[in-house]
Amino acid sequence: MGPCRRGGGALRQRRIVGHAGQYIEPVSPHRVIAARTAIAQRAAQAVPGQCEVCHRWGWARLCTPCRLRFAAARARCARCGLATGTHLAACGACLLAPPPSQRTVVAVDYGFPWNQLIGRWKFAAHTELSAMLADLLAEAVRHDLALRDLPPPELIVPVPLAPERLAERGFNQSWEIARRVARQVGTPAHAGVLERVLSTAHQIRLTRAERERNLRAAFTVPAAARGRLAARRVALVDDVLTTGATAREAAQALLRAGAAAVELWVLARTPAPAAA
Ligand SMILES: [Zn+2]
Ligand SMILES: [Zn+2]
Repeated sequence: MGPCRRGGGALRQRRIVGHAGQYIEPVSPHRVIAARTAIAQRAAQAVPGQCEVCHRWGWARLCTPCRLRFAAARARCARCGLATGTHLAACGACLLAPPPSQRTVVAVDYGFPWNQLIGRWKFAAHTELSAMLADLLAEAVRHDLALRDLPPPELIVPVPLAPERLAERGFNQSWEIARRVARQVGTPAHAGVLERVLSTAHQIRLTRAERERNLRAAFTVPAAARGRLAARRVALVDDVLTTGATAREAAQALLRAGAAAVELWVLARTPAPAAA
């Protein structure tokens, strides 16, 4: 199992030697979560369960009426993914200050019920929701790829977490969706291409200028990963897009390291205040 398969910045594992000198395999949180998820998924396939949104019983975690009602495709700015009411190649903001990413694919707006489900998934480690949430993004990506003439990107990269955040949460939510979407789209995903070198845990206390300076230093491409990136078209996967500052810095780091173009694949995007 290479570093790519373990999710953004895997936790270091120490060899533990038992009292009789035998090697004891340490159990990482990733493995515990993976096992729990696999069991939950098998159980979900075998028995009926409740829709996560309306709690009606059925065979899917998201029932068809809820999918149609809350996850219907919306007309968006192709560049930044903002819901614009009509399909636009670039909204006013993108014309004035084009973002480094060429395109943004968004599955849903960050509002009810997704804000609650995403909160549970990320902050209460409900990783059994990963597959359902990844399916939403995969569906949006497939729809977008079918619409345009360009072939799909050649590499999928998740926005990484800072190591201490990863240790605290036990999983990188962007990798959880990136690797599943990659499987559905047929494009390889690698978590080790982009690294977060500086914690942004206390961003909220910083001024806007400090925050941007902090973010600028936050992403780096390790020398060993540059070959994988060179001249490739890359899809950068994030769970929630709010101001776009994090995604912008991550995209710029990929472009600086040699990516030919970057597009964003985002599970949920906060709508413009007027449209909220
Ligand atoms: Zn439902
Ligand atoms: Zn835009």
